[in-house]
Amino acid sequence: MRKIFYEDVNITEFEAQVVSCDFDESRKLYKILLDATAFFPKEGGQSADVGTLDGQEVKDVQIKDDLIYHYVDNAIEVGSKVVGQVSWEQRFDYMQQHSGEHILSGLIHNKYGYNNVGFHLSNNEVTMDFNGTLSWEQIRVLELEANKVIYKNLPIEITYPSQDELANMEYRSKIEIEEQVRIITIPGVDVCACCAPHVAYTGQIGILKVVGLQSYKGGVRLNILCGQRALKDYSEKYHSVSAMAQDMSIKQEQVIEGYERLKSECQTFKTKVNELQSMLLNMSLAALPSPEESANAILFTEITDNMAIRNAVNELMEKYSGYCAVFGGSNDSYRFIIGSKEMDCAQLAGKLRGEIGAKCGGNKVMIQGSVDCSPEQIRKLIE
Ligand SMILES: [Zn+2]
Repeated sequence: MRKIFYEDVNITEFEAQVVSCDFDESRKLYKILLDATAFFPKEGGQSADVGTLDGQEVKDVQIKDDLIYHYVDNAIEVGSKVVGQVSWEQRFDYMQQHSGEHILSGLIHNKYGYNNVGFHLSNNEVTMDFNGTLSWEQIRVLELEANKVIYKNLPIEITYPSQDELANMEYRSKIEIEEQVRIITIPGVDVCACCAPHVAYTGQIGILKVVGLQSYKGGVRLNILCGQRALKDYSEKYHSVSAMAQDMSIKQEQVIEGYERLKSECQTFKTKVNELQSMLLNMSLAALPSPEESANAILFTEITDNMAIRNAVNELMEKYSGYCAVFGGSNDSYRFIIGSKEMDCAQLAGKLRGEIGAKCGGNKVMIQGSVDCSPEQIRKLIE
């Protein structure tokens, strides 16, 4: 079968004859073999081209024993002619990413001797794995070098050297195969065996940006964005940063300082709120009936901070001999702590659970929990 993408990567529309059409039971799709195709299959870590065959969406393209199969919903008659249409948008995007990957892998190989031992290219991610470690500092230098290679607009050459020539050649991804090896050369930067479509000149990659670095299997995994993907990412980030800067009335380059200032202000406010809450709680405690008037002390407050409630209960237990209860919350929904030096809190917990559906537990001296009930009902139950 003719592989049109090896003749010209720019051809996206083609005519071909159907050689076979079989139903794939496991995938519930028909697999179509043509005498020629411009569809690049899923191969070498790269997802397949997308597009249509006679208007039908091509759902997958696989290669097996050097034959390329197109997966579609409906059968197509063997012997008939079909028109294939490959999505140029995705093809070109993939070419930008893949050629960019070769530049960066080549630079890393030349400088550090590491090999690219894993590559994955799909619609949402480009990852490349190396068998050696790199820091962000080193990456930034490599990224700059890669972009200089792009600006130079070097030709990306594709050759098919003989076995003898290959034996004396230095190139990445050296594989021991009898088949014709396809070599991608970026002069002075990289020589690598590869089966995928590439851009004709490095300038078409536009830009290369490393957006991820993590330790991976003793080496590192990098995420990169090239061309349109990098532009899209830049647009999104520009939008976010500009919105934040505008909101804080500062320049974009001051966004991190602005964020740090907000964080510190927020912490100051939190501390202040806690102080005010405990002042408020103390005032409420002081306003309760005195121990001479009532053995129990029952307080409802909007303050829900557990530590503040616990401190208040402890303070009340010093003065009151009955139940010392603080309910924090609003709208008949409370978290509470009840303590007592003389009364049995565990017994009260049983009543709260049984009569008003409280969720609580603890011991004779102190219980805590939550309840959805009106203050009047709760008061009646404890008194
Ligand atoms: Zn490649």
